[in-house]
Amino acid sequence: MNAQKPLAGQAALITGSTSGIGLALADALAGAGADIMLNGLGDADEIEKTRAGLAHEHGVKVLFHGANMTRPDEIADLVATTHKAFGRLDIAIPNAGIQHIAPIEDFPPEKWDAILAINLSSAFHIIRAGVPLMKAQGYGRIINMASTHALVASPFKSAYVAAKHGLAGLTKTVALEVAAHNITCNAICPGYVKTPLVEAQIGPTAKARGISEEDVVRDVLLAAQPTKAFVEYNQLAGLLLYLVSDAGASVNGAMLPVDGGWTAQ
Ligand code: NAD
Repeated sequence: MNAQKPLAGQAALITGSTSGIGLALADALAGAGADIMLNGLGDADEIEKTRAGLAHEHGVKVLFHGANMTRPDEIADLVATTHKAFGRLDIAIPNAGIQHIAPIEDFPPEKWDAILAINLSSAFHIIRAGVPLMKAQGYGRIINMASTHALVASPFKSAYVAAKHGLAGLTKTVALEVAAHNITCNAICPGYVKTPLVEAQIGPTAKARGISEEDVVRDVLLAAQPTKAFVEYNQLAGLLLYLVSDAGASVNGAMLPVDGGWTAQ
């Protein structure tokens, strides 16, 4: 094995990897030598720049598939296309996610449906299509991007918290089903990471709570995070690289907090 590129020859699929955490994880896996299938929404020229940049920087194959995570047929095509392009599927990271913040009595039903589809059901569709491929090759690592909100709740996030708690159930169930096949299924549970998803919550949270945006960052977002610091991308990448290494082979069905102590309270 190449010590600098321990994942050389492996193929990784990360949903929602045109931005934020997914892009940072794609970069970390590419840096470790894996070929990458990117996915997500966004401006086509920007995505192409990202794709070409990753491939050039790390000397790996990087492809993009624009499957919408609300469309099971497109998700199945994403998995099949990844396997066809790389001949393998070693690492699958259902990561795409959206947020909407509103009191339960005002929560728009269409937002509930979209959050459940993108944050929970898309992981089911990725895993359902990916597991047979992983079983056939005798190896796989599934890492669901959950959240602290898979373990505890916050007000005004009913759909997000419900979806992430659902992802916890999916993670544990799949872990049991695949354990004897040299496949693991775990979830990373980050606290607050300063991504576009979080930056977009600051205004609506201020409105929902009737406080200023500065107060939201200090008293709402980081209030729960005892370190009083946002989680950094490299701290999530470090855990991911451990989970996909030989050393991580016995970690299975785990919900792994990276939250500065939030869920210790
Ligand atoms: P982000 O908004 O930066 O990225 C979200 C990604 O999902 C983007 O690539 C976007 O294009 C993609 N996406 C959204 N809807 C999609 C759809 N219908 N089809 C395909 N792709 C779609 O957000 P982020 O903060 O990087 O979030 C990534 C994951 O991490 C989410 O599951 C989120 O719940 C989770 N998470 C984030 C934080 C945080 O503090 N940022 C904390 C815990 C968990």
